[in-house]
Amino acid sequence: MRPMLIHDDRLFPADPDTRRIARRLYGEVCDLPIVSPHGHTDPAWYAQNEPFPDPARLFVVPDHYVFRMLYSQGVSLESLGVPTVDGSAVETDPRAIWRRFAENYHLFRGTPTRMWLDHAFATLFDIEERLSAATADATYERIAERLAQPDYRPRALFERFNIEVIATTESPLDDLRHHEAIAASGWSGRVVTAYRPDPVVDPDFHGFRDNLAAFGALTGCDVSTFAGYLDAHRARRAFFKAHGATSTDHGHPTAATADLSPVEAEALYHRVHAGPVSAADAELFRAQMLTEMAAMSLDDGLVMQIHPGSFRNHNPQLFARFGRDKGADIPTATDYVHALKPLLDRFGNETSLSIILFTLDETAYSRELAPLAGHYPALRLGPAWWFYDSPEGMRRYRELVTETAGFYNTVGFNDDTRAFCSIPARHDVARRVDCAYLAELVATHRLDEDEAAELARDLAYGLAKKAYRL
Ligand SMILES: [Zn+2]
Repeated sequence: MRPMLIHDDRLFPADPDTRRIARRLYGEVCDLPIVSPHGHTDPAWYAQNEPFPDPARLFVVPDHYVFRMLYSQGVSLESLGVPTVDGSAVETDPRAIWRRFAENYHLFRGTPTRMWLDHAFATLFDIEERLSAATADATYERIAERLAQPDYRPRALFERFNIEVIATTESPLDDLRHHEAIAASGWSGRVVTAYRPDPVVDPDFHGFRDNLAAFGALTGCDVSTFAGYLDAHRARRAFFKAHGATSTDHGHPTAATADLSPVEAEALYHRVHAGPVSAADAELFRAQMLTEMAAMSLDDGLVMQIHPGSFRNHNPQLFARFGRDKGADIPTATDYVHALKPLLDRFGNETSLSIILFTLDETAYSRELAPLAGHYPALRLGPAWWFYDSPEGMRRYRELVTETAGFYNTVGFNDDTRAFCSIPARHDVARRVDCAYLAELVATHRLDEDEAAELARDLAYGLAKKAYRL
């Protein structure tokens, strides 16, 4: 029996002949393991394997995709239990939070969030009725009752989701104690970290100067010199690599790169280290550090991810009250052709270097990113990201990218999520959209079906493993 919330043919082409091809292709990939090379799940879940607390704190409180929409319609973050920076009181009753969410569920119509939630409700909790004010309490009871069962603990869900490997993302200042605990526990689940150095690379990052001091103390390197600071990165990268990391990740406001002379770089570092830092120096330092990170990647083999183009914390009042990652990050237009040139001039032709580019500016795909990745051996294109992690966003991505970069300069799917229960749904959406796209290439006689089937498996599984060296 089919759950009512999700249809077997969802996201497949409406045309019956093409739909049949898409179904066959999807049949090849629907049971493949999940490779999740980039995301933000909490490693403490897998290390401690404690039950998830309640439906609200699983689905609502930590998920900025959910509360940004509610906030936009006048629902306060306090009433959704989102913690404040100063610890002032917010709603603590999970049932009240869930009811508020349920009575506003219509706001998610047509959004990917709705598809992910319905997929989790149906497949994990056997819920058949649409969430609404009327079904809020019954849904809450069902989810809460299941969450108390041993097979709904993080490790059991990890296995049930058929996750072959998942990457989390940590700061260089993280001691990786949860990854150590996972490794020491004897559990077979593969959880690796990724090196996200923004807290010690971005002078505009909150607490940057304290972070630099901690970075020096942690590594024993003299971070008052640029050489010592770079050595500290090398030491932490090696530590992360020893804990399974195969990649680094850089969340800069722009894709700017620079290739300064050693003397200029040292002088810039001294200005940044001494502070206060001008906006121009902050940008130049981030730019220089992307090139330095590429040089280190060439040495240690870590794959580099660049996630530019998000104007973080756009809402200052919300930021002051609730801190970062609260749904107030807004995409900006992003240049790649000029911005990446200093880095590419040095490393673009390296076949052993892998730099995965993401964008929140879809206009860059056909104009800049696909031509760049379709030329430089060091470049690959990451999947449709964040606001475009949606059926339409994925579809547009394939249409804009494939003609110039092909499929093999792309790297499969990233779920990029902190919402654990959405992981199977997100991968399923990507697999369905790719199968729908491939089915149209078959139906219009641009691909043979055996090639499409091979591609479907590569897009769902093989390319992510290869690109991220997993
Ligand atoms: Zn991410």
